[in-house]
Amino acid sequence: MQGIDLHTHSHISDGTLSPAQLVQAAIDASIQQLALTDHDSMHGIALARQAAQGQAIQIIQGVEISSQWSRASTQKSFGVHIVALDMQNLEPIQTLLHHQQQLRAERAIQICEKLQRCTGIDVLPHVLSQVDEQMDRVTRTHIAKALVALNVVTRAQQAFDRFLKQGKPAFVKFDGPQLADCIATIHAAQGFAVLAHPTRYDLSATNIRQLVGLFAESGGDAIELPSANEPPATRHMIDRLIAQHELKVSIGSDFHGDNLPWVKLGNTPKVNTDQVGIWESFRI
Ligand code: AMP
Ligand code: MN
Ligand code: MN
Ligand code: MN
Repeated sequence: MQGIDLHTHSHISDGTLSPAQLVQAAIDASIQQLALTDHDSMHGIALARQAAQGQAIQIIQGVEISSQWSRASTQKSFGVHIVALDMQNLEPIQTLLHHQQQLRAERAIQICEKLQRCTGIDVLPHVLSQVDEQMDRVTRTHIAKALVALNVVTRAQQAFDRFLKQGKPAFVKFDGPQLADCIATIHAAQGFAVLAHPTRYDLSATNIRQLVGLFAESGGDAIELPSANEPPATRHMIDRLIAQHELKVSIGSDFHGDNLPWVKLGNTPKVNTDQVGIWESFRI
């Protein structure tokens, strides 16, 4: 616990707390710097800032962008999440996010069509009721919860394993910006680009090295440290890559409220003494 959490979700995307409830929970957890990083949306930031007024907590403008990258040798494309932090000039990022939200809406319909074909059930109404009927907010978490509510699966994880993950029958790729373009847009917005949870993409160690190399080459700023629950060997691998590419570090819990109840707000890994936190560059 270091009083800093730079990766969290509210119910604007797939968290369960409202932005105001999230800020209160962060204050209760003695967090002094909180970034709200909903998926492809900054709609919760103003509400979070309002709730933080007069309180001993700073709200960092953040967003988790669904991006993609590919290995030069194979051209095979993989999804990757880039957390953008502390933007000073919102216009470039808002243009990108508007496009991302359209992609999200189109993908939600495509996933639900595929699910209807393989289960015979229309999941869409149960998905939309969770997001105030706003299709452009739908994440796979909402779809997984709808499948639980409809008794197609017993747990959300089962929905990912049977239908929603890459390679499964209702998977639809998120056709977001290429990694280099995503980083360039974040920089045009005068923000910092963080490679989120580098060890949680089901990639081989070789592909993780390739991804971090491409991220650094493309001007990326910081790598999110693996959570303390991950094996020490995983952390060591990431520490080595951070040192090799002279990247800064970010720390975040990836809190989702009751959707991932074992992830605690503010529970972030320890930073090594030779590592530089991206928060030292923040301008507020
Ligand atoms: P989306 O951005 O719509 O692809 O949804 C991604 C979100 O779904 C992630 O941020 C996680 O919260 C959740 N998620 C992704 N993969 C899994 C998985 N294998 N098991 C459980 N939740 C997952
Ligand atoms: Mn999520
Ligand atoms: Mn993510
Ligand atoms: Mn996240």
